[in-house]
Amino acid sequence: MSILDIQELCVRVGAAEKEVFAINGVNLRIAQGEVHALVGETGAGKSMLAKSIMRLLPESAHVRGKIFVGGIDCLELNAKEVTAYRGSVASIALQNPRSSLSATRTIGDQLIDRISSQSRVSKASARMEAKNLLESVGISDTHRTLKAFPHQMSGGMCQRIMIALAISSKPRLLIADEPTNSLDATLTENILQLISDYAKRENAAVLIISHDIASVATISDRISVLYAGSIVEQNATADLLGDPRHPYTRMLLDSVPKMDGLAVFSDVGSMPILAKYPTDCAFISRCSRAISTCHESKPALVAMSDLHSLACFNSLDKENAVRQLPTFPLTYSSREIEVKNPLLSLKSLTFIYKGRFGTKGFKALDNLDLELYEGENLGIVGESGSGKSTLGRILSGLEKASSGEIKGVVLKQKLFHDIFQEPIRDEIQMVFQDPILTLDPKLEVNRSIVEPLLRLKLPKVSVEERLSKVITDVRVDRSLLSRRPRSLSGGQAQRVGIGRAIISNPKIIVFDEPTSQLDVTTQAQILNVIRENSKSKDFTSVYISHDLATVKSICDRVIVMYRGKIVETGPVDQVFNNPVHPYTRAMLASVRTLDSGENREFEALLPEDEFLTPHSGCNLFGRCPVSVAACERTGQNLLKFEENHFVACSKSNPETSVSKPNISERESK
Ligand code: SF4
Ligand code: SF4
Repeated sequence: MSILDIQELCVRVGAAEKEVFAINGVNLRIAQGEVHALVGETGAGKSMLAKSIMRLLPESAHVRGKIFVGGIDCLELNAKEVTAYRGSVASIALQNPRSSLSATRTIGDQLIDRISSQSRVSKASARMEAKNLLESVGISDTHRTLKAFPHQMSGGMCQRIMIALAISSKPRLLIADEPTNSLDATLTENILQLISDYAKRENAAVLIISHDIASVATISDRISVLYAGSIVEQNATADLLGDPRHPYTRMLLDSVPKMDGLAVFSDVGSMPILAKYPTDCAFISRCSRAISTCHESKPALVAMSDLHSLACFNSLDKENAVRQLPTFPLTYSSREIEVKNPLLSLKSLTFIYKGRFGTKGFKALDNLDLELYEGENLGIVGESGSGKSTLGRILSGLEKASSGEIKGVVLKQKLFHDIFQEPIRDEIQMVFQDPILTLDPKLEVNRSIVEPLLRLKLPKVSVEERLSKVITDVRVDRSLLSRRPRSLSGGQAQRVGIGRAIISNPKIIVFDEPTSQLDVTTQAQILNVIRENSKSKDFTSVYISHDLATVKSICDRVIVMYRGKIVETGPVDQVFNNPVHPYTRAMLASVRTLDSGENREFEALLPEDEFLTPHSGCNLFGRCPVSVAACERTGQNLLKFEENHFVACSKSNPETSVSKPNISERESK
């Protein structure tokens, strides 16, 4: 029986002259107990579809078609009925939980209010129910969590609470909109498991919206691929991944980074924004298989078998649907890196975020030592709160370390932490996570790109020459040069950000999660731009990411961070193929890519402690599956495990090992 039944849904939004045809004839059914993934690039209409189901579209939107949820025709409900419908029949867990939760109210107040408003129970019963809900999403210290404010919780905890709120009244349809956006691999797996458990436990339908196909594929029964407001292919998950028949499905799958370090496919086009109902195939400008029929009408979604539906006039057949990925390796592990003279040397670096309103400060970096060598691509990985972005900001001169020092041959100076020291700006550049927010909104693209050259006082003709070269290198179309950042797409803005970073020929570029807000096809394009430029230009890069497959394909060396410390470091192939530290092993075991198949057989971490209990020992103690009592008392430093490979774990390190089995297990792999 279908819980969700969407029939011929069409949605238009925007004022008359700027009207966008966002949803164009979608039919979709989701059965009881089914987890259904909806994937596609930004602008495909995924969130618009969710808003239509939740009756959250703006008043001005034009909606046609039917949406039945649990037999209720939700488009016909009046305002009072909509309030009752939201939560009890259909509910949504929004992306960005921190901004979706109220910052000024405790978790308990928010949960208890939601429960009592929906089920009219007493405050005491609602409180008990709230505790049960928190337990059901894996939060053990319910007492303290109910009293906490969202800013006191980690990103993963906030997402759990968001899900707890969404399922508080046991909706028949749960919509999860990008629930794992920006979460690291271990948290992603936990959150997806919660969603999948809910579908099974309550026999509810789940619609999970994501641009991360590899992750959602692990829990979804079926996948629908949305392009320009239309479903172009739908199939059982394994069949869609293994035998994609629509050219767009295949493009999406080929764009997903793989853990084998091979290049991702990247196309040049982007999704059109439709100003009228499509009268041809909306994918035509990007499709290499287009035939004359594709220009004549919009292909309808046709059932090919019980589970498989396809909208294409010239689909891939079985033979050419088998994905052929590029075969040239793009990891640089064979490159000779000069390790004798570090470009930068960090010693005992500590950074403490000061507490506000009487709260305790937070140590983001803890006595960290690191050397960066000329010409290398260094990856920094770790979960949210591990300190990787703080480290990047200190390297870029945007933050000042609380203590410690940075020596650099670039700067010929001992200390390196003052944003006003001019050489820093010229020699070290940063590419940010959100390019649109970080570019000056008042500056046109050409002025944004050349801004780092102003201090060099170059003649105008040289500036023009460099600008022309850089926009070719990062593939920014000349027509964009007079635009302002707000009118750029995420991918265009990130190319501008990279152009701006490389134009002054810096010695070091810090890339801080440069693709985390982009969908897979744009991500593939940006990765190729970064890769090409780091090969052809003379800069050293620091690449910060929670996406391990991307790090594998870009970097030579990697450092793994956990709660402000480096827990493992070495050549990327060595660390990723033979991880030693329990945290690295658990992190890699959680990675889902389309080529990784089943989880690797490493021990999972124990659930994270929502409220850290201070101790003097290893930071992983409490979550570590192989800890011993001594770990709580003994802090860990990096020690050599093998040539170039260092690990901070007494149980895993041959020089101080207290437990041989772990090591022999690693060697036998
Ligand atoms: S209908 Fe034509 S243009 Fe559209 S995806 Fe199929 S082959 Fe390509
Ligand atoms: S030192 Fe102990 S707690 Fe820390 S990672 Fe090693 S085994 Fe686990």
